[in-house]
Amino acid sequence: MKVSKEAHLIYDATNQAWKDAGQPVHLHWGGEISPEFWFDYDGAVRFVRKAYRHVKTRRVLIPSFSYKRGSGNRHNWRRRGVWTLNPEQGAHDLVHSVSHAVWIDKNRQLGRRRPHHCAEHAILERQLSEIYLSEFL
Ligand SMILES: [Zn+2]
Repeated sequence: MKVSKEAHLIYDATNQAWKDAGQPVHLHWGGEISPEFWFDYDGAVRFVRKAYRHVKTRRVLIPSFSYKRGSGNRHNWRRRGVWTLNPEQGAHDLVHSVSHAVWIDKNRQLGRRRPHHCAEHAILERQLSEIYLSEFL
């Protein structure tokens, strides 16, 4: 899937915002993150709820989830109504994953097909990153 130049510019700016905040940016799952950058689990639960509220509309409802703590190489991801949140994967991975899950869940509810990476997703990831960096870091 070709990602537009516009989308790339937004993704790059978002990654730069994370680097400017002193946070490691890992674009692939499973990397090692120094413990000083592990995120707060309870804050992450609140962030996931806030991320879904962020895209809520009359036609896009907030799915109900339960939450559990992951460790090691476990992904930050939701599966069958359970969010696994793994502080060891770092906050950038958390926000990146949450942005994709929110995007997928929203599009599913609207019955529309959208690419995983596109300008509209890039804007969502940017907004969620700003929320996380200003309120949860
Ligand atoms: Zn992505």
